[in-house]
Amino acid sequence: MSDILPLNRPVSESTPVPLIDLVEQYQSIKGDVQAAVDRVFESQGFVLGEEVSNFEHAVAEYVDAREAIGCASGTDALILAMMALDVGPGDEVITTPYSFFATASCITRVGATPVFVDIKPDSYNLNPEAVEAAITSRTKAILPVHLYGQCAEMDSLWRIAVRHGLPIVEDAAQAIGAAYQGRRAGVLGQLGCFSFFPTKNLGGAGDGGMVTTDDKDLAARLRRLRVHGDAGGYNHLEVGLNSRLDALQAAVLSVKLQHLDAWADARRENAVRYASLVEDHGLGGRLELPAELPERHHVYNQYIVRVQDGHRDEVLQGLRQRQVGCSIYYPKPLHLQQCFASLGGKAGQFPESERAANETIALPIYAELGEERQARVVSAMAEVFAAIDATRRQSIRRAA
Ligand SMILES: *Cc1c(COP(=O)(O)O)cnc(C)c1O
Repeated sequence: MSDILPLNRPVSESTPVPLIDLVEQYQSIKGDVQAAVDRVFESQGFVLGEEVSNFEHAVAEYVDAREAIGCASGTDALILAMMALDVGPGDEVITTPYSFFATASCITRVGATPVFVDIKPDSYNLNPEAVEAAITSRTKAILPVHLYGQCAEMDSLWRIAVRHGLPIVEDAAQAIGAAYQGRRAGVLGQLGCFSFFPTKNLGGAGDGGMVTTDDKDLAARLRRLRVHGDAGGYNHLEVGLNSRLDALQAAVLSVKLQHLDAWADARRENAVRYASLVEDHGLGGRLELPAELPERHHVYNQYIVRVQDGHRDEVLQGLRQRQVGCSIYYPKPLHLQQCFASLGGKAGQFPESERAANETIALPIYAELGEERQARVVSAMAEVFAAIDATRRQSIRRAA
């Protein structure tokens, strides 16, 4: 813990607030990260090896899974999960159209068909009733996403999965450390898929991913699949991928894992503070804040607000003009993506997903944000709404 910069740099009315800033986090752990990187270079072991297996054990322990299998990205974790469950041509996998692209592309990548069903507006996660209605004789798995860092409605999904004998694959890319009924994401289905993309709550120095499971056989198959299906000694039992976790990533991530819960707690505190700042500025009626649903532990990989009355794009633009970082996750639902046109998706098909895509905005929530910058975000938001109201009053006067 050397080389610590002052963590709360002075914030003035004009200081830009980025959507995410990883520099302060790095400064706070720089010595440990550099020692870990040095250790890898001294060993000259760069792919898999002890660094990776130590990190796999640490993640397995963290989520309370029997096994954890490192791979090259969260996308590959999902593809490997599909392969390990023998999902292929002719199969359907039920998932959400309101997620990052890889949630659905992993299904098409193995030759199967994504079957989208709508989300619930309070959590932005899969609507279990719609899931059950979409099950056919071809359904091979259910793929819920724990979007933004909050777990999907697992007890309903478990009941449906058991009733129909289907495995659940969790897309937990945004949800490491999130929990449902006290159990962490990664052990809430047959397979849990994680991403260590730099902006996730546990982010590496590049791409990385992991699959967790309690099933020894699936774990053994995943370990083979990530090395071209090689069972050892160049005996290829099936065609797999080349998808390993780098030792450098594992070394860096091992350092960061030790801080993960503290960082998630800071994100949660920021979420509480947003709620009171929004209240203080009288913006309660104009923004719908994220709800932490019962039995969930939300880790806020993203802090998503819904802008009421169709002003989302003006708010986005106004915040950007005021140098407040913000973004849309995600502006175009997956059933409307060109590459999935052959699935026959239509505008209006999934109203809640489409409404979320049109109404929501992501605000800065990273652990090091700090009270002052957070206050700037909300006061900028208040200014934007005041400007919107002034314009509207003017046009009403002009019309009169
Ligand atoms: C980030 C993400 C992925 C993909 O992870 P990568 O490591 O970027 O390949 C998959 N699903 C969701 C929901 C994600 O947020």
